[in-house]
Amino acid sequence: MIVEKCAILGNQSLAPNIGLIRLESRCIAPLVAAGQFVHVQIPAAGELMLRRPFSVYEIDDSRTQLSIVYQVVGRGSKHIQELKVGEELNLLGPCGQGWRLPDVHQTQAGGRVLLVGGGIGTAALQLLAAQLATLGYGIDFVVGAATARLLVFNTGLEVLVPGLKLHVCTDDGSAGHRGLTTDLAEALLSHGSYEWLASCGPEPMLAALASLAKKKRLAHQVSLEARMACGVGACLGCVVPTLDGQRRVCADGPVFDAEAVVW
Ligand SMILES: Cc1cc2nc3c(=O)[nH]c(=O)nc-3n(C[C@H](O)[C@H](O)[C@H](O)COP(=O)(O)OP(=O)(O)OC[C@H]3O[C@@H](n4cnc5c(N)ncnc54)[C@H](O)[C@@H]3O)c2cc1C
Repeated sequence: MIVEKCAILGNQSLAPNIGLIRLESRCIAPLVAAGQFVHVQIPAAGELMLRRPFSVYEIDDSRTQLSIVYQVVGRGSKHIQELKVGEELNLLGPCGQGWRLPDVHQTQAGGRVLLVGGGIGTAALQLLAAQLATLGYGIDFVVGAATARLLVFNTGLEVLVPGLKLHVCTDDGSAGHRGLTTDLAEALLSHGSYEWLASCGPEPMLAALASLAKKKRLAHQVSLEARMACGVGACLGCVVPTLDGQRRVCADGPVFDAEAVVW
């Protein structure tokens, strides 16, 4: 893991209280695997001592820039929202264990995978989608948000990732299907044949998907969120119960086999 001071190349609003920050990163970006995160030191550190974890959302083609999509929920994310181009952000990363891709040799050629992202959790699936597409998988990507104004992960995905079909839903029906990501995922699972399922979002969504996947005997990985302090596995502040005992989201995860998690 590396500590890197990264110049801010852009910080744009995508939706109310959701932004995308683009950073120059010549050390961390080349090493990032899909599903890993960076631990961000918040400027004005005297006030906020602990770093904040954010999934790496995008890496540019030259692998010298990375982006994060952040939702403003408290003081740390508010500070990030206020940062300007030319200022710097101190990152620790790449952190954690990312997605373990399905074995192309054991899955059907041209097989389909299902990705389900709820709210801001969808950020953790973007790099994965691109990687699965290069391996030749067809992708059904369910993206859900509370309402149309908060849908930030639907623009251009189908163009950017060949072989990807987007399925949008909102809680209030203001865009796409009215209802939950789990409704759409259930419908897709009952009609289609999938090699693999990956999901990130609110815990009740992940738990419901885990139960659906278990019934279908479908391999399923989840990316979990937990409040964390050190981000490197030392403080045990982010442990979650699993069938193998307590596991650290920051170092053993954030990606886990859904069947191993005690929901
Ligand atoms: C591996 C990982 C990847 C993440 N990726 C992203 C991402 O790509 N984009 C994004 O917007 N957020 C992401 N998060 C959540 C993000 O880390 C928190 O929203 C952030 O730390 C909040 O900091 P804050 O100072 O703004 O809020 P705080 O003032 O610390 O807290 C404000 C509120 O947010 C809740 N909260 C704080 N941290 C977390 C957390 N880790 N999980 C759940 N709730 C939390 C608190 O309970 C509180 O209610 C991720 C978390 C993890 C563990």
